[in-house]
Amino acid sequence: MRIGYGYDSHEFFPGVPLKIGGVELHHDKGLAGHSDGDVLLHALTDALLGAVGSGDIGSLFPPSDPKWKGANSVIFLEEAMRHIEKAGYRVVNADTTLVLSSPKIGPHAKQLQASVAKLLKVEPSCVGIKAKTPEGTGTENACIAHAVVLLEKI
Ligand code: MG
Repeated sequence: MRIGYGYDSHEFFPGVPLKIGGVELHHDKGLAGHSDGDVLLHALTDALLGAVGSGDIGSLFPPSDPKWKGANSVIFLEEAMRHIEKAGYRVVNADTTLVLSSPKIGPHAKQLQASVAKLLKVEPSCVGIKAKTPEGTGTENACIAHAVVLLEKI
């Protein structure tokens, strides 16, 4: 068995599409980043890579490379899945926590869960999607994601 942990944060900007967990959510602000700013997929990508000692998202997809400008973060997660499969592992389950002031994630949690489960090749019941407000942290204009994954040998 292997465990992996990932963390990411992105700042909200008006007029930018909001992508979380591979799902586009309707909101007046979105997450800015070199790619599509999908903070949840970035944290999961790092968790997968970390679990098999394969570096991190920044070393695989350098922000300095214009190729990744506006990139769909599903590409990053799929590459991380190839790394764990090459190392002989598959995902058992994943658990995640988002920290953001808005929009509320609860109404979209099932949709995010299904999207992430499909990407990780597990059942939706094997993916935790939780959200907290950033009370007292002074990060109201950011979205933060924490992710842990458990892997088992194929
Ligand atoms: Mg990121």
